[in-house]
Amino acid sequence: MRGILPILFVVLIVALAVCAVLAIKSAKRIGGSVALLLFALIPPMIGNLLIIVSQDPNLSYAGCYIYFLGMNFAMFALLGFTFGYCRIKNKGRRWRWAAYALLILDSLQILLNLFDHKVFTLEPIIVNAEVYYRFVPLFRQYLHRIVDYGVFFAVLIIFLVKMIRASRLYIERYAVIFASMVVVGLWESWYIFSRTPVDRSMIGFGVFGLLVYFFSIYYQPMRLLDRMLVRMASELPDSVLFFDLNRNCIWANSKGLALLGVTRNDLEHIPQLLINLFGDAPEETGEDWTEQQCMEINGQQRYLFIQKKTVFDKKKRFSGTFLNIRDNTAEIEALQKERYSATHDATTGLYNREFLYHEIRRVLTEEPEKERVIVVGAIDEFEVVTDVYGSAFGELALRRIKEWLSCGMPEGSVYGSLGGTDFGACIPVSEFDPDFFEKTLSRCVIREENVEQHVFIHFGVYQITDPELEISIMFDRARIPLSTLRGNMKQYVSFYEEDLRDRILWNHQISAELPTALKDGQIVPYLQPIMDSNGILVGAEVLARWNHPTEGFLSPASFIPILEKNGLIVEMDRFMWRSACRILKNWKQEGRRLFLSVNISPKDFDVMDVEAELRSLVSEYEIDPSLLRLEITETVMGTDPEGRLKILNNMRKDGFLIEMDDFGSGYSSMNMLKDMPLDLVKLDMVFLQKSEDVEKAKMIVGTIIRLTRQLGILSLMEGVETDRQYHVLSDMGCQFFQGYYFSRPVPLEEFSENLK
Ligand code: C2E
Ligand code: CA
Ligand code: CA
Repeated sequence: MRGILPILFVVLIVALAVCAVLAIKSAKRIGGSVALLLFALIPPMIGNLLIIVSQDPNLSYAGCYIYFLGMNFAMFALLGFTFGYCRIKNKGRRWRWAAYALLILDSLQILLNLFDHKVFTLEPIIVNAEVYYRFVPLFRQYLHRIVDYGVFFAVLIIFLVKMIRASRLYIERYAVIFASMVVVGLWESWYIFSRTPVDRSMIGFGVFGLLVYFFSIYYQPMRLLDRMLVRMASELPDSVLFFDLNRNCIWANSKGLALLGVTRNDLEHIPQLLINLFGDAPEETGEDWTEQQCMEINGQQRYLFIQKKTVFDKKKRFSGTFLNIRDNTAEIEALQKERYSATHDATTGLYNREFLYHEIRRVLTEEPEKERVIVVGAIDEFEVVTDVYGSAFGELALRRIKEWLSCGMPEGSVYGSLGGTDFGACIPVSEFDPDFFEKTLSRCVIREENVEQHVFIHFGVYQITDPELEISIMFDRARIPLSTLRGNMKQYVSFYEEDLRDRILWNHQISAELPTALKDGQIVPYLQPIMDSNGILVGAEVLARWNHPTEGFLSPASFIPILEKNGLIVEMDRFMWRSACRILKNWKQEGRRLFLSVNISPKDFDVMDVEAELRSLVSEYEIDPSLLRLEITETVMGTDPEGRLKILNNMRKDGFLIEMDDFGSGYSSMNMLKDMPLDLVKLDMVFLQKSEDVEKAKMIVGTIIRLTRQLGILSLMEGVETDRQYHVLSDMGCQFFQGYYFSRPVPLEEFSENLK
């Protein structure tokens, strides 16, 4: 008996000491108070051991002191541990200090026993023929018991309350320690009160210490962990499915159930459902894998990211698998939408320009040998449609037009919106039918409620000769012929040609250089003599010549039409008129009475007050307005015939003579004669020369000459080149003549020379 017990005690004491050291070393906050408790359990155990093993009453006495005082120390440590373990904050502090004070007082009164022997004394007893000394409690022993039991019960109550209040997941944390304390307490009490000779109850304390160590340092609440993991898996945005090693689904979160359309009671169907969905269920072993799948679920396109993970036990035996299925549909759809809006035009849904260029480049690289054209479709005066019907209709119209064009695109075309109202396409030459574009695709009718709007589309076409060229430049080239089509209602398709580009560049150059040319005297007036029927010089027409520094001598044909188109003709004419006035002034001073005819472009009337301009010129140079004759053309009437008539009448009243240039080249010439205030008509030999039936033309010319004479209008024939022409026309009654037969247009010096 004495042999086994000490061994057990020593083992427990060593175990407690080791655990106490480990507790200190553990990183846990509670480690310190656990260690203190374990250490504190060692002295009463040693005291108890001494009592058991000693056959010497003095040693037993010492054992008793160590035991009682150690017990107080243990209670002290238990209290500290309890407060830490149960996380009691400030509330219990006063009670705790009160308990400590009691324990200290009790320890003192126990020590007093050395002198007054009122706490305990020893008595020898014989057990199994061996002498044991056991203590006999005296009066003050009860004080000690009250204190220790008091503390012990307080601790029990703290644990009990904690147990009742704690969540079910935490109960075991308190319950085990509570239960072991109850057991230890009962065991101890049984010894104390039954006065059984050999007290072994400290074994219980030792075990209790080890339990405390385990629960406070090592123990992890697995149920809590389970709960937490399940909760986390439930709330994952992914579908999570757990399978045991027999492929049975043991758990699925609600997302997973929803994905497969089952309830928690149908877990057994899940493997089959997965086979239906993916064509396979998770295999029993094997590697982890992930894959992206796009599939139809309940008639909806879904993008799933599937992850399979395998779970093994500690011995690396396969234990199950779980699937994590992420539904990426929203992200991928958002991405696709983003890509769509980055590559498509918002109004029409067609490719936008960047993407169109990209796609054209792609087809050009894929099939470089295939011949293709680049086409730009431009809507004629679309601004008017938006202006009249509003921007909402405009947007709708634009959509319809682009739909119309899209539908007309031949096979193999790549097409899209070039931004704004322009439409662009790249079409295989073999499929491109210009006639279809010209006659059909160029006209689009938009019907919406009461509105029926006809829209015309012009097409500029560039046949790709150099596939390496930048796509944007290809489109620029297709756009070049468009500028010649603007406003043209007879032609809708025009092709890019190299010389067209040069022509346009030339136009730009001419226009840009005109102001300097006027300033630097590059523009000079040439004079072409005008004769009467007797061959006598009566005047001259002033014609512009451009002495270009690099291009040489330019004839009006190469620059007048350009200037007329862009309105710069106004500057030019102003300059020519002034030049004419200066010449007339000189002649006046020289005493010559010759007239000069100047050309007035129809554009001049649009831009300036021609009448005021001319009037101020003649008054500035103090010349007779009847010597400055004004050559206008039939197109001068333009869109405002009444206004123009008024101006012409005023100018006549001012004393100017009005001449109709190139009479007969238009179609309503007879009306002109009837309505316009004219002094002279200029006919051109071209009219006679171009006619197939020269006799017929001659008759017409003769009639016009006679008619004008009857109307009191003079007639002049231009372009007279031969003596015969001069005489025939003279015989017909023509009064004035101009042409190479008499003289080419010459510079003023040469003209003056000839005058002499
Ligand atoms: P236009 O007013 O009909 O001028 C007559 C044109 O016929 C001139 O051409 C003249 O050189 C040419 N011509 C004269 N006699 C003959 C002939 O016997 N045979 C042939 N084949 N041609 C002859 P040019 O000088 O080249 O002028 C061309 C056109 O440019 C003019 O036609 C006129 O419309 C315009 N133009 C010239 N200078 C000016 C100007 O200062 N202002 C404006 N607005 N237009 C001008
Ligand atoms: Ca003329
Ligand atoms: Ca003429």
